[in-house]
Amino acid sequence: MKVIALPSGESVPALGQGTWNMGDDRGRRAEELAALRLGLDLGLTLIDTAEMYGDGRSEELVAEAISGRRNEVFLVSKVLPNHASRRGTLAACEKSLKRLKTDRLDLYLLHWSGNVPFAETLEALTALKDAGKIRHYGVSNLDLGEMREWWRTPGGDGIATNQLLYNLTRRGIEWDLMPWLRERRVTVMAYSPLEQARLLSGQPLADFARRHGTTPAQAALAWLLAKDGVIVIPKSGRRDRVKENAGALDHPLTAAQIAELDRLFPPPTGPRPLELL
Ligand code: NAP
Repeated sequence: MKVIALPSGESVPALGQGTWNMGDDRGRRAEELAALRLGLDLGLTLIDTAEMYGDGRSEELVAEAISGRRNEVFLVSKVLPNHASRRGTLAACEKSLKRLKTDRLDLYLLHWSGNVPFAETLEALTALKDAGKIRHYGVSNLDLGEMREWWRTPGGDGIATNQLLYNLTRRGIEWDLMPWLRERRVTVMAYSPLEQARLLSGQPLADFARRHGTTPAQAALAWLLAKDGVIVIPKSGRRDRVKENAGALDHPLTAAQIAELDRLFPPPTGPRPLELL
């Protein structure tokens, strides 16, 4: 498994598993559990969830999937901005820990920025870290201006990641946010790496995959996996697709293939407002 070094020096798998919309449908639950467990078997041991997903149902599903295997997993969850006051963050974290049936999160993120001053959220995050309830903290969906403000706030330069929308069709962050984060050794966690499957039905990627003997999903993921300091978290609740996605690690792209994808899905030519889903 390719690994990415967090600013602390700890390594995490470059390919993990997302869980948005998982745990919502009882009829799919058994397959979703099996898919997450197969992902762990294949080395996709970073699992991303959030209190928001299904109002906690995703966290509950993850708890079941990792039962007996907690120590294998790098577990990520997120606090909603409207819970991100000092007391609210502490309370939200306790609830996530309870739903996840664990005593610690490996990484806890502010899901996006809201009305609570960053200083308050950071006070809570550093208190949670000191108490051993979270091992690392970070942010999600913060644009460059917000990132600068966060960084200036006490404790703000202690983040491990900014989780961002990033895939072949969403390259805006390459213009200024990614270089800024890279300079500070903050990892990027690429969410919706398949553009929630919309990318896969497009002709350009399908043709590329056919020409190069891979699949559209593997090509999209391999393109992200070729980037420095990027963690990629596709979601699938189906074992066949988890296996296919994990196969992206066995199909690394050549420089020529990356150049071809850059022609099909061009990088930004100027600053763009941060996109999110
Ligand atoms: P995604 O991973 O780009 O795509 C997931 C969709 O693609 C699902 O519908 C899945 O369906 C399908 N899929 C997965 N692998 C496939 C394959 N090989 N072939 C065909 N279809 C495939 O989108 P995402 O779930 O939005 O993003 C991934 C994770 O990032 C989330 O689950 C969540 O953990 C995180 N996220 C974070 C934020 C944030 O604001 N921080 C926002 C969005 C997402 P099946 O499950 O049926 O296979």
